[in-house]
Amino acid sequence: MVGQLLGKCKDRGRKLKRVAILGAGITGLTCSSLLKDTYDVTIIEKDEVSGGLCQSFEKDGFWFDYGAHAAFTKDESVRKLLEENLVLEESLSEAMNYKKEKWIKQPVQNNLFALDTDEKIKIIKGFIERNDDGEYKNYGEWLEKNYGKYFAENYPYYYTRKYWTVEPSQLETKWIGPRMYTPSIEEVLYGSYSEETPNIHYAGNIRYPVTGGFARFLEKISKGANVIYNAKIAQIDTKKKCVYYNNTRIDYDEIISTIPLPEIVKLLDCVPEEVRNAAANLDYTTLTLVSLGIGKKDVMPNHVNCFYIYDQDILASRVFSTSEYGKQNAPLGCTSIQAEIYSSKYKVLDMSLEEIKEKVLDDFTRMGLFQRKDIMVQDVRRKKYANIIFTKEIYNNRKIVHDFLEQCSVLYAGRFGKWDYLWSDQSVLSAIELVNKI
Ligand SMILES: Cc1cc2nc3c(=O)[nH]c(=O)nc-3n(C[C@H](O)[C@H](O)[C@H](O)COP(=O)(O)OP(=O)(O)OC[C@H]3O[C@@H](n4cnc5c(N)ncnc54)[C@H](O)[C@@H]3O)c2cc1C
Repeated sequence: MVGQLLGKCKDRGRKLKRVAILGAGITGLTCSSLLKDTYDVTIIEKDEVSGGLCQSFEKDGFWFDYGAHAAFTKDESVRKLLEENLVLEESLSEAMNYKKEKWIKQPVQNNLFALDTDEKIKIIKGFIERNDDGEYKNYGEWLEKNYGKYFAENYPYYYTRKYWTVEPSQLETKWIGPRMYTPSIEEVLYGSYSEETPNIHYAGNIRYPVTGGFARFLEKISKGANVIYNAKIAQIDTKKKCVYYNNTRIDYDEIISTIPLPEIVKLLDCVPEEVRNAAANLDYTTLTLVSLGIGKKDVMPNHVNCFYIYDQDILASRVFSTSEYGKQNAPLGCTSIQAEIYSSKYKVLDMSLEEIKEKVLDDFTRMGLFQRKDIMVQDVRRKKYANIIFTKEIYNNRKIVHDFLEQCSVLYAGRFGKWDYLWSDQSVLSAIELVNKI
């Protein structure tokens, strides 16, 4: 499909169009790699490296990722772009949950075995009594109607506050898709009697580079990309078709934005107040990432690659291990783990990066994952835009901004251009789809 696409672009590319791409994440790099042989393509990137949320970094032999960890796409065109010639480790995506000193298999609703009898009874009773009429005013209702009130309030409600930083009633429901599993009563009962339950994870089989972190997936699409790094864009003049950055300018025939909608709106001129307000009300979470190199092997429970934490007094909501995805991503006998902490305008984190890291270390030693003496590497950093929050006005606000971009002939793609809950492969697909329009 990508081959066909390239052929198509070449036919059209008799005149050497100048294409400016804003952002060198996986979406911008995919656009560039599909267009660069035919058009005069320049990527303008604010950071000193490319990759965005698909970046990885190394510290003393430990590899860490910024955002994306697992590749699980089944789409052959995406696999050809990202995976060709890479040595990958394949595994089954396995996760655990942690609540009040108990480790529970993922998803909790299918795996009540580890819980106390009283707790199981409350959950099962709630599940039997639930009334799922298929009508959901918000995510809170979706949870209660799918899982029963007791389970909803004591498990996903807790997680929602940590991961989405809002109350479940503040979220709408279209984003859920395969991300939340609704079991049958037989599955709930089976998992409460037996530990031998099937592994249910939306990601299924996952692939990960043997070494070098998730960023290795970007190698092929980065080849030959013309990226201007450390670019501070001052303004985009869509009438004159030029981008002003670092006291210079670049002219374009087509412009593709992969940067967050609230950011591009700030760079355009003559933006109507309605559009400015809509962009300002697009909600997102900020990710603070604490990355740790641990000098021992058995850190992750059952060597799963990820676990979720429900306790409100523990700062992190998710923990990933790149060395469980690909063994050589940490020195022999060691483990790399990364804790994700989310904040937003709804949940302000009034702590310095150093304080956050120290709190995570306290939490994890208290949980018994390791001792302070085991820590070989520690790092804390932040990405302002991590997840889009699906608060109720999202679709209206997003449409207002998208309509305005279309009026200004600004094309958009990717997680933050589309303003959608896209995995990396879906971001790539959005780039392929957009390239077809040029
Ligand atoms: C914590 C987390 C875990 C994830 N896990 C997975 C996973 O396991 N598997 C998976 O497939 N997907 C995962 N994803 C999703 C995946 O990371 C995204 O779909 C993908 O990285 C989005 O790529 P993008 O290029 O659209 O956006 P980005 O990666 O955000 O790239 C945008 C680029 O634009 C640049 N930019 C921003 N503002 C400006 C500006 N003003 N001027 C110039 N440049 C600018 C940024 O620096 C960045 O380089 C995860 C995401 C998160 C947050």
